[in-house]
Amino acid sequence: MVLDSYLLRSLSVAGYAPDLADCVKCGTPGPHPGFSPSLGGVVCANCQPPGTPHPNPETIEYMAALLAGDWQTTRTVPPVRIREAAGLISAFVSWHMERGLRSLPLMDRQD
Ligand SMILES: [Zn+2]
Repeated sequence: MVLDSYLLRSLSVAGYAPDLADCVKCGTPGPHPGFSPSLGGVVCANCQPPGTPHPNPETIEYMAALLAGDWQTTRTVPPVRIREAAGLISAFVSWHMERGLRSLPLMDRQD
C-alpha cells in the first residue's frame, strides 16, 4: 500500500497523476466505470477504448485516497480492493515508464 501510494504520488509530482474524477477524454464529471491506464484515468462509457478495465467503484475511491494521502480512508479498505488498485496502478505506472524509457535512446543520440 505504501509503494502504491509512493508510485501514484511520484507520478503526480511529475505531472502524470491519474484523473480519478472526470472522464480523461471528454471531461464529463464522474464517477465513471472504466479506468484506462494508457489514457491516464477514468473514462466514461462513451470514451472508453475496447478492453478498458471496470474496477469496483471502491477501488477508484481507494486510489483517490492514496493520491491524496488520506490514510483514514485507506485504512478501512478491504484487501481485495487494495489488490485491484495495485494491478491498475502498476499498469498505469508501467505504461508511463515504458513511454519515458523509449524516449531515452533518442535523447542520447542528440548528444
Ligand atoms: Zn468521456
